Amino acid sequence: MKSHDKNWLKLMVACLFILPLTSACVPEGGKETVKETGDPNKFEVATSIATLEFDTSNAPDLKQWTKEKFAPAIEEWVVKLTDVMASDGWTPPSKIYFQFVVVKLENADYAPAWAVPSESRVSLRTDWFRENLNGEALGSTIHELTHVMQNYWTEGANGKNCPEWASEGYADYVRWVLFEPESKGCDFVYLAPDKYHYNDSYRVTAHFLGFVESRFPGTMKKFNAALRDHSFDDGKFWKDATGKTVKELEADWKADLKKTAAEKKAAAK
Ligand SMILES: [Zn+2]
Repeated sequence: MKSHDKNWLKLMVACLFILPLTSACVPEGGKETVKETGDPNKFEVATSIATLEFDTSNAPDLKQWTKEKFAPAIEEWVVKLTDVMASDGWTPPSKIYFQFVVVKLENADYAPAWAVPSESRVSLRTDWFRENLNGEALGSTIHELTHVMQNYWTEGANGKNCPEWASEGYADYVRWVLFEPESKGCDFVYLAPDKYHYNDSYRVTAHFLGFVESRFPGTMKKFNAALRDHSFDDGKFWKDATGKTVKELEADWKADLKKTAAEKKAAAK
């Protein structure tokens, strides 16, 4: 994440991507809702939740991929996430913007994509997407869509009780555990269970969250809700939600990682 956080309302959240994407989620009939805007490099997709705007002005060569893969995936997942991420008092955004942007050479260390949740806007690095269309491109857009839907950084809250490891871990949980589990993007944790901690953020936290949800279904809905209404307390939340402290859950997770790693090793022989 790049925290250009002079103003939390304009907080940008982003992530790093390493492993290959192995599948795409394309809903049936998605193209029927595409609406041209008059600008050949900009189009809109109407969903039951939000209107999605896709701007490929800076990357006309990515327009086909955007129409055939990117837009249909977002169209499907903005509806799914509205259910998965529902919480009391929360209203999903009515319009979400996706724009390919050109990053100057001196900013080459910028993340591949980033979100400004307060504006329901996602920026996508043109150069990175061109190189990763058949790899991590699609999954990264779901991670950023999750940040827009989280909208944890509301006015007056200033990020209170919303640790970065939790927001990034949850965004990667949506991506790797819910959207593309077949990619096994978090499986590296089996290689060294003792090395990782539940709050290591991104994929490690995503794996932990997936483990907790599998043992205590419904916990992730409470987790997202607590982060969104700024009531999250790491020392209290887990016990209230599961009956176990986070340290107990982490110990259970590590024991399971070791057990699974041993089983994988035995099966490989
Ligand atoms: Zn992120």
